[in-house]
Amino acid sequence: MLTPLIAGNWKMHTGIRQGADLVLKLRELIKGVTDVEIVIAPPFTSIYHLSHLVADSPMQLAGQNLHWLKEGAQTGEVSGEMLADAGCRYVIIGHSERRAYFHETDELVNKKLAAALRAGLKPIICVGETLAEREAAQTVSVVSTQLRGALAGLPTGALKDITVAYEPIWAIGTGKTAAPQDAEDVHNALRELLFELLGSAAKPVRIIYGGSVKPDNIDSLMGQPNIDGALVGGAALKAEDFARIVKFKAAASEHKA
Ligand code: PEP
Repeated sequence: MLTPLIAGNWKMHTGIRQGADLVLKLRELIKGVTDVEIVIAPPFTSIYHLSHLVADSPMQLAGQNLHWLKEGAQTGEVSGEMLADAGCRYVIIGHSERRAYFHETDELVNKKLAAALRAGLKPIICVGETLAEREAAQTVSVVSTQLRGALAGLPTGALKDITVAYEPIWAIGTGKTAAPQDAEDVHNALRELLFELLGSAAKPVRIIYGGSVKPDNIDSLMGQPNIDGALVGGAALKAEDFARIVKFKAAASEHKA
């Protein structure tokens, strides 16, 4: 059983003060949670400040993106080394919004993954299909191509710290969630592919689900054997909602009692 990972992607929301308020509320609400790994990905401008506020809490920081070079004449970009220096332990790579609005290809995702590993960051690699692809029964082939492209040519031993986030594009920010069994089927296919590509190095790799995860659907999603956590967008900006998502295990044991 892998330790679940719940990651909050704040996208381009929150200034420094708002982000600090959110972290301080979360600190209280998730105090003592040790059975889940918790990551938040604020905008770059807040990371360093928040690194002081998450210290001594169960929260770790992630970047939402990185450039593949360590440094250079790349106006407006931030490297993995800079993210690590600012306090990040994780980085999100290949989010569908980056793929759609910033033309990120599987080749670019692959370069960014190598850069994250070079910088000592744990990458969360996003894959997911459009609604048209799902309706054409292409989901597994689309996400498999994305995952193969992301991992291409990288030494398997270096990949044990990766996380794969399955995020159906049609479910992101729309309020529509994949049915738990449909998500489970895709996670299962991704798990098989990871074992095919990485052999035993695939054992510690978590596959998390993203796409309108909320307090009212986290329990059924986490009840699936191959769903190892969640990547949460909108609900990560509401302290109570994110805390409830993080505390899905406690809710499950209360339910049983
Ligand atoms: C995301 O941005 O990765 C995401 C899943 O967003 P939301 O939870 O708002 O759908």
